[in-house]
Amino acid sequence: MTKTGIFFTKKFCGKDWPIIGDKFRNFPEVMEDVLKLPNVILIEPKPVDEELLYRVHTRDLVDRTRKMWYYEGARYAVGGCVKASEMVLSGDLKNALVFTVAAGHHAGRSHAWGGTYLSCLGPAVLVLREKYGVRRVAILDTDSHHGDGDRDMFLGDKDVLHVCFCSYSSAEDDNTKIDVDVGWRTSDEEYLSLVEEEFIKRAEKFRPEVIFHFLGHDTCRGDYGDRGLSQDFFIKLAEVVKECAERVCNGRYIVLTGGGHRRDVAEYIFPRIAKILARR
Ligand SMILES: [Zn+2]
Ligand SMILES: [Zn+2]
Repeated sequence: MTKTGIFFTKKFCGKDWPIIGDKFRNFPEVMEDVLKLPNVILIEPKPVDEELLYRVHTRDLVDRTRKMWYYEGARYAVGGCVKASEMVLSGDLKNALVFTVAAGHHAGRSHAWGGTYLSCLGPAVLVLREKYGVRRVAILDTDSHHGDGDRDMFLGDKDVLHVCFCSYSSAEDDNTKIDVDVGWRTSDEEYLSLVEEEFIKRAEKFRPEVIFHFLGHDTCRGDYGDRGLSQDFFIKLAEVVKECAERVCNGRYIVLTGGGHRRDVAEYIFPRIAKILARR
């Protein structure tokens, strides 16, 4: 039975992480029910190899980030993302939910900001290509903010489809780098239909070998990137993207937790998203 991997370490608890705070303080306990399922496995990540960081970031960025208190947490987040990617591509896992702190979509080659100071996807995609011969990758970004770091990391690489839901509207790199303006007051239904139109249809044509999803929940009502979405939106979203992954890439779907400060929302959505991932 292929499993769903949940990548989490207690090192993510009890610290006031930049932007997202201590939203994981009650994890993994709040996921207890899900972790009991026979096809769900909790995996403790190891910190990413620094040599790998030097291959995707400038030396200066890594050396500056190493001096910051959140560097260790960021290394564990990236390490989890790389390990999840390898296990999904090798067939050891069907799909994965990767918890992240201090790393993610605002980290480009030489510049990183906004709570994310190392790239998760730069190292993961590099390893998948070198070790597993993967060529085509799709990245869906539904955090409230523009994924400038991931865009910088993959600009010019037409084997990476990057569809970012934010406040821009653009298409570059032969339509492999897309921004979709979702507006500041949208609804669950409107947003989901944009995902269908702008991501799912493109992914079906693009035929990636794996789908990564930077699933920030800062778009939720009352959070810092509020776009008027409900908590249940995130669960429906994971469900439709998972179904898409089943059709286009043998179910290979890797969710990264992304932005959002509301702890109650994190505690509501991530156990449910894990349950969706575990459904066969
Ligand atoms: Zn954000
Ligand atoms: Zn964008």
